[in-house]
Amino acid sequence: MCQNIHFNPPTKLSLVRVWTSEIRFAKSRSTMDEQKIPPPHVLIFPLPLQGPVNSMLKLAELLCLAGLQTTFVVTDYIYARLVRFSNIRTRFDCYPGFQIKTVSDGLPEDHPRGDRFMELFDSLKSKTKPLFKDLLISLNDSGSRRPPVTCIIADGILGFTGDVADEVGIPMFYVRTISACCLWVFFCLPKLIEAGEFPFRDDDLDALIKSVPGMESYLRRRDLPSFFRSGNLADQNIQLYKTESTVNARANGLILNTFEELEGPILSHMRSVCPNIYTIGPLHAHLKAKLAAKETSPPAFSNSLWKEDKSCITWLDAQPLKSVIYVSFGSLAVMTKDQVIEFWHGLVNSGQRFLWVIRPDFIVRQDWDHQIPVDLSEGRKKRGYIVGWAPQEDVLAHPAVGGFLTHSGWNSTLESIYEGVPMICWPYFLDQQVNCRFVGEVWKLGLDMKDTCDRSIIEETVRNLMEVRKEEFLQRADQMAKLAKRCLSEGGSSYCNLDRLIKNIESMSTSALPFN
Ligand code: UDP
Repeated sequence: MCQNIHFNPPTKLSLVRVWTSEIRFAKSRSTMDEQKIPPPHVLIFPLPLQGPVNSMLKLAELLCLAGLQTTFVVTDYIYARLVRFSNIRTRFDCYPGFQIKTVSDGLPEDHPRGDRFMELFDSLKSKTKPLFKDLLISLNDSGSRRPPVTCIIADGILGFTGDVADEVGIPMFYVRTISACCLWVFFCLPKLIEAGEFPFRDDDLDALIKSVPGMESYLRRRDLPSFFRSGNLADQNIQLYKTESTVNARANGLILNTFEELEGPILSHMRSVCPNIYTIGPLHAHLKAKLAAKETSPPAFSNSLWKEDKSCITWLDAQPLKSVIYVSFGSLAVMTKDQVIEFWHGLVNSGQRFLWVIRPDFIVRQDWDHQIPVDLSEGRKKRGYIVGWAPQEDVLAHPAVGGFLTHSGWNSTLESIYEGVPMICWPYFLDQQVNCRFVGEVWKLGLDMKDTCDRSIIEETVRNLMEVRKEEFLQRADQMAKLAKRCLSEGGSSYCNLDRLIKNIESMSTSALPFN
């Protein structure tokens, strides 16, 4: 279990070497003599998927801005895409303390990765783990140009990184890039099983779940991550999330991309099993706030693994204020042709303007030539615009956008909340089902459309959000956006938590001195 302490001092003598690249001086506790100490060096390892890579790159940049040395480890596959579609190389030129290292994910080039997540996960565990350990050892080698690694910050789903950290003797923080509300559900999974709530006893998906403290009055079976519906205790996902989540509580601390004002009540439950939680989100906006506070900020950036089509911004420029519903289902969700057709009809018949992201790999059946019926095509020409991948943060910040039809991925949810854009939620998998319930029922920032895919429901829901209940949702969203902004300003909760995290990492570096 993680404790409310600052760090576990590493014991390795290698950590006391003097580093010529950047030397800081600190006063010894015992002698008060000036000692040369290595600057903190953080190794960050995200789950190799768009959402986690995106938010953890932002964390990396925040640490660089604070003067920490940062090594960002990605798989070869992700690195190739980042180099192809983002400005990752030039972006970090201004941070001499930043470097990227790559490891193999052990899968063939044409493997769909996120689409067959368990295969990706198994391969990371069996093939990447030893490579990760070798990399860590080489970074700590005396011939390395950089100071030894002070601590590891890895995605909490990659529990094997904690084993490596233990073996090498380096402190560990986990980051979860999902919501605290879903993470709390995962933490409570053993309780659900013990209480006989999972596997479900019957088919009633509206029955309330009672074994997740804090959510007893609103969490239904249908709001649990979709793999709970397998009804199978041996399901690989169930086993994975049951163990990985408890592993997280054993690290030095747990870093979450959320903010206290949004998930406070759930976070206080989580702190009963994992006291040292750093809520430092929304990360994308936290980074922007820190960059804005600098006199010279680096160029505009993107961490996209697809080519962004910026023409949609020009299209948005020509639309009236808050008139457009932005439609995107993130980087992993897919739809069948029939589902796509329902959404087409629903959107066109709603009479609203829409901007829709249809990724090249979004539609499951390859036999469809993407031709749409003529009436839909006409409706689209009048009021719709389609791109393969959008600069989403800019889209959500655009004054013409008044709603977001989303799969409720956590990054998308936070990006929408920050910009005060109400949501219609159509979750696909994982934390999305839980997030969607919170958006609709707890935060009341939009409408939950899970488990339906019918053109008339889509049409009515879009009308409700964009016309009938527009003012009500905009007002709620505006209030929450204000809280999101406040938590990032000086003295705000996320601002202070990031400060605390950086100080704790710095003190780990100091503790490596031989007299400590
Ligand atoms: N995104 C984007 N352009 C798009 C669609 C998505 O830049 O056209 C970004 C979005 O801003 C978010 C990330 O991709 O940061 C998706 O992460 P999320 O957690 O919402 O969903 P996932 O893709 O992991 O399901």
